[in-house]
Amino acid sequence: MEAALRQKIGAAPKGSDEKRHLQELLSLLSGQKTPEAPPTASKAPTPSFASILEEVSQPMIRSSRRLDFGAMERAMKDRMLEETARTLESRLNEEITRHPAPFRCPACGRLLQSKGMKSKTFMTSLGEITLRRRYGFCRSCRKGSFPDDARLGLDETGVSPEVQYLAGLFGAETDFLRASDLLFCAARIRLPEKQVERLAKSLGEQIAQDEREHVELEPHRLPQGPLYIGMDGTGVPIQSRETAGRRGKQKDGSSKTREAKMIDIWEAHTQNERGIPIRDPGSVSYSAAIESASCPDFAQMPSDFARRVEREASRRGAAQARQIVVIGDGAAWIWKTAESLFPGALCIVDRFHAKQHLSELSKALFGDTPKAKEWTHCRYEELDEGRMDDLLKEIGIYASRFPEAAQCRTYFQNNRERMRYPEFRALGLCTSSGVVEAGCKSIVGGRLKKSGMHWSVAGANAILALRCTIKSGRYESFWERKASQWAA
Ligand SMILES: [Zn+2]
Repeated sequence: MEAALRQKIGAAPKGSDEKRHLQELLSLLSGQKTPEAPPTASKAPTPSFASILEEVSQPMIRSSRRLDFGAMERAMKDRMLEETARTLESRLNEEITRHPAPFRCPACGRLLQSKGMKSKTFMTSLGEITLRRRYGFCRSCRKGSFPDDARLGLDETGVSPEVQYLAGLFGAETDFLRASDLLFCAARIRLPEKQVERLAKSLGEQIAQDEREHVELEPHRLPQGPLYIGMDGTGVPIQSRETAGRRGKQKDGSSKTREAKMIDIWEAHTQNERGIPIRDPGSVSYSAAIESASCPDFAQMPSDFARRVEREASRRGAAQARQIVVIGDGAAWIWKTAESLFPGALCIVDRFHAKQHLSELSKALFGDTPKAKEWTHCRYEELDEGRMDDLLKEIGIYASRFPEAAQCRTYFQNNRERMRYPEFRALGLCTSSGVVEAGCKSIVGGRLKKSGMHWSVAGANAILALRCTIKSGRYESFWERKASQWAA
């Protein structure tokens, strides 16, 4: 850097402000190396960013005829990151020396036997930095540890908290290879695909545990009116060793998927142009996992999924809600869970889903014909107007000849009470137009059901936990809790 400065001083006009400024800068820079200079780099005068960046851009401007704004911007950013990484490195090394963490074993709390200092390079969002930390050995646990690492939030992954944070954010959003590319393009962080996967899954596991342990009422989202609780399930492609022996939809009766069950909670005070209540953006929170919703004795032992629903409902203040409305697609486990947890709730079959049953049946009966369209249209009207007897009678005409029609009739008979749409509408309630299904599609399908994906149950659940937390606006508070543990 000094050589470049000297060159610039030579080129600057005699007696100019620029020349004087550059000469000052040079003396400051070379001053760092004199014996009188303070020993730590952070105490030495730091060259201004402007001068560092100037140094990067000048040769680029001179060498190319065309001004490449993009290349210049990137080069300056990279240089700036390098410089900032050095500052971070010396600040942290200084901090470790000045305020060392208690020299105790993290497992048993006994004093450690000192084994000297050890250096390790960590990946940060600014680039690599090398930290010198004290290493100690616990004679009781027969294990070595670095107490200063724990205090800084550093673990065996060798990456900084900020890199973990970003890997989680990108890894939840898109597949790990693409996340790795994006991390480099957007944040200049070089992490191989496998490492993004490891970091995202490890974070997801921590979040899943945190979700079970922290059930605190969210005061900023207390219900102002009816609180809507949606439940839905969707198949996630799972590696064959974890689906072996399970019954499924494949031709031979086997299964390639496991069902992820999701709960989403929201409010609907806004109305669309037709006066129909729609979900308030920002009011929705999600929780999902591949887990069981059935238990032999529900009252004695709620299922894993029921416990999840309970926790999410507590966070959202369901106990204070004027009215709870449970919306589902008609699956029995949904109503069973709803009835045992929310005895006073109003249960509604997602109208979008009910209509899907009708359009599928009409396709089975009449194929892709105008008759099919007309038939579907009439049934939709009967459903919307609450003419259930007419609807059931019409489906019943085909029940003896078409098993699809018989099945459909059973579905509408079983759910009749939950399809009183005119009544629900009069109460000003949201009967949904696929709100629940859309949630499941975007949260689960949007990340876990892309072609070629095969998950382990643990991996899928980790990514689901991570994704639900981010999409529910809870990622920051999770990190705050995590950071408070390091400080302790
Ligand atoms: Zn120990």
